[in-house]
Amino acid sequence: MPITTINPTTGEEMPTEWETLTAAGIERKLAKADEAFRAHRRTSFAERAEKMRAAAGILEREKERLGRMMATEMGKTLKSAIAEAEKCAWGCRYYADHAERFLADEPVETQAARSYVRYLPIGPVLAVMPWNFPFWQVFRFAAPALMAGNVGLLKHASNVPRSAMEIEDIFRRAGFAEGVFQTLLVGSGAVAGIIDDPRVKAATLTGSTPAGASVAERAGRNLKKTVLELGGSDPFIVLPSADLDSAAVTAARARCINNGQSCIAAKRFIVHAEVYDAFAERFVRAMEAQAVGDPLRDGTDVGPLAMEQTLEDAERQVRDSVAAGAKVLTGGERIGGPGYFYRPTILAEIPESAPAYREEVFAPVALLFRADDADHAIALANDSDFGLGSSVWTRDPDEARRFVDELEAGMTYVNAMVASDPRLPFGGVKQSGYGRELSHNGIHEFVNIKSVWMEDEGPGVHPESE
Ligand code: NAP
Repeated sequence: MPITTINPTTGEEMPTEWETLTAAGIERKLAKADEAFRAHRRTSFAERAEKMRAAAGILEREKERLGRMMATEMGKTLKSAIAEAEKCAWGCRYYADHAERFLADEPVETQAARSYVRYLPIGPVLAVMPWNFPFWQVFRFAAPALMAGNVGLLKHASNVPRSAMEIEDIFRRAGFAEGVFQTLLVGSGAVAGIIDDPRVKAATLTGSTPAGASVAERAGRNLKKTVLELGGSDPFIVLPSADLDSAAVTAARARCINNGQSCIAAKRFIVHAEVYDAFAERFVRAMEAQAVGDPLRDGTDVGPLAMEQTLEDAERQVRDSVAAGAKVLTGGERIGGPGYFYRPTILAEIPESAPAYREEVFAPVALLFRADDADHAIALANDSDFGLGSSVWTRDPDEARRFVDELEAGMTYVNAMVASDPRLPFGGVKQSGYGRELSHNGIHEFVNIKSVWMEDEGPGVHPESE
């Protein structure tokens, strides 16, 4: 079946270049992955690092072209798409530089002549990925996976096949052998069968909570490990000592990042009653200052939503929340004309019965809450099924420490917006998933942690680290 995709800026179909894989096609890819793993696992860290650095070089040299492709395919602004390509290069170099150290043998004192822990690759890992950061989501999985000696199988979101094919091509051009990283152009219906295949050793999914649950269930039945990076409804908490000007400008940026479609976008703005009115006024101004339009044009802050369905979901959530009693402080509607544009919006006085109170809103729609005091702010922040990121604004270090300890989230940023960084672990708690990507934690997710006991003195240290 030919794959059809739509440019979200124009609403027009893009020319088709690919077909969905048949069952025989999937089988060929799995066989190739299995074969590639046997050779790739024996390559040295130095060889892998050289190729990973070559991938970084391609991303840097071709960031303009790749950025334009991403912006056209899913609507992110050209400047953010170029920044995404640069960040992928950073991720590749980070693991090229550090993977060997992260996975070095760890000696352990026992009664044996020698004992240690060795980290070994496990085989082909399936990555089911979303469209919102079509390159970064994939590279942050692939760079540690390939450096660890695993091979990657990418099932990308159905609306970003060009990104998926470009990424496969980048790894091939960087010098990785055929089969070390492959894209599977399949729909989500094919995922269960791929997880069942004994050649696939583990799976990771970044996406919505229902999709994560479905992959985890299937993998669980097969006793295969999963890492899940799922949805979020991150709180952004503003306390009386905060710098309100800086908080309000950052709040608008943190809500509208990636056209409002980021798992770690700030979504719930919880403001202490003492500064609520002053913050709300500044926040409305900052949201209204966001330039919405063609993502390829210079100066655009917010492009279209990626799909018609994403736009319709946001419209429904806002409409039903207003019907339940929420007030619109700004925005609250789509922008007419072709393309899937939604006006930056702030809802306030949102009752618990409103869909926006609990659901993740994947659009530039901010939810504003008034907190009586710090206890109330923490209670509101934690009254969510999600637990991905969180941001707290205060100049009081004791107050900051308390929020770091008590917010139920995988990440807490103080006086800053949440952002991923290769040096720090990334992931959530509660319905936002489990496991971590990035940092040394990320590379340890898909390895066999082997204990080695040698009754007699023998070769101990990893050959590459000798
Ligand atoms: P999605 O609908 O869950 O899709 C994500 C991926 O999962 C796609 O490749 C999709 O394939 C596949 N998929 C969907 N249902 C599946 C199922 N039942 N079994 C197997 N695979 C399935 O999510 P999305 O709309 O693309 O992305 C938005 C969501 O991702 C938001 O909730 C966002 O917060 C979350 N997200 C989380 C993170 C994080 O790091 N925590 C990062 C980015 C995004 P098809 O496209 O073919 O349906």
